[in-house]
Amino acid sequence: MPRDYYEVLSVSRNASSSEIKKAYRTLAMKYHPDRSPDDKEAESLFKECAEAYEVLSDVQKRKIYDTYGYEGLKSSGYQGPGNFEDVFSGFGDLFGDLFGRRGGAQPRRGGPVPGNDLRYDVTISFMEAMHGVAKEVELTRRDTCWSCEGSGCRPGHKRETCPLCHGRGQVIRSQGFFQVSSPCPQCHGEGEIITDPCTDCNGSGLVNKSKKVSIKIPAGVDHGSRMRLRGEGEGGRRGGATGDLYVVIHVEEHEFFKREGDTIYCRFPVSMTQAALGCKVEVPTIHGKKNLKIPAGSQSGVMFTLRHEGVPSLRGSKRGDMVVELQVLTPVNLCDEQKELLEKFDDLCREHGHHKEQEGFFSRLFNEVLGKKTKEEE
Ligand SMILES: [Zn+2]
Ligand SMILES: [Zn+2]
Repeated sequence: MPRDYYEVLSVSRNASSSEIKKAYRTLAMKYHPDRSPDDKEAESLFKECAEAYEVLSDVQKRKIYDTYGYEGLKSSGYQGPGNFEDVFSGFGDLFGDLFGRRGGAQPRRGGPVPGNDLRYDVTISFMEAMHGVAKEVELTRRDTCWSCEGSGCRPGHKRETCPLCHGRGQVIRSQGFFQVSSPCPQCHGEGEIITDPCTDCNGSGLVNKSKKVSIKIPAGVDHGSRMRLRGEGEGGRRGGATGDLYVVIHVEEHEFFKREGDTIYCRFPVSMTQAALGCKVEVPTIHGKKNLKIPAGSQSGVMFTLRHEGVPSLRGSKRGDMVVELQVLTPVNLCDEQKELLEKFDDLCREHGHHKEQEGFFSRLFNEVLGKKTKEEE
């Protein structure tokens, strides 16, 4: 069970939302992983603060926590901080029922209205995807108005029953023999109206706010991966839960590395002589240089597998493989001496019968497509 959330943020149990926010900001700055990288203690304190803030900054979660404690919060569907562990839950979770706010009936008239989920697209480099990266983005979204706690009413005032529909939300008009019911034009079907709107949000219960959100992208993400950040979406109204933020990741292509599943492919160029004589080379992997022995007589296109040098797994410590495809380069811009040497080399090849295989291939092919004609020409 986590430490008491109020204790974590060092605020009193009746701290206002702005006090909580201020306390969280100060602590988050202090323990931010960017400020003290590799400090495990700071990192765990940072997570602890984030979790405490996630709960205490949400009117509904705080209410549950105050009344029933952490256990109550857990049994109400809260599954712990969303920002760090619970990534890649996929869109199946979009309809998951956190606090019973989705996939069910319309919100009760005048009752809590949950905030919308938001989507944010982020582009990272291939190497960032391989090693993981933390991105801090500034988002402007509609957040709960804390002056009225999302009620839309001026503090001290309440919503009143709509005088036009008497709280029904519908008005009935007669049209000839028919009675047509339609949403009440005064309260827009809500059954209640705000007589004294909150001056900060003009009665909407939401205000535009920009917020820095830190997105910790784990190593191994692929193009199109989605991350869910709980409670980072649009603010709720009248005690409704905050929406979630879905981060869609775009990974830029790399000039040399290609990814397929957990395997990384890379073409590695060697000279004609290196391929013929064999050699030891250093090939680049995403983790640095690795030695590779190219056996004598290697052909262009041959593949070598470097075990566990591929994409890191999102879960666990496994890694895919890396496949190196040999690309034998034909020498160009030869000087006279080089040409002479190669011609001499070619003669030697003929002497040793090295061209037999090639000649055999051609004569068989020509025989097949052109018949006897080739032999006459020879
Ligand atoms: Zn307001
Ligand atoms: Zn009405």
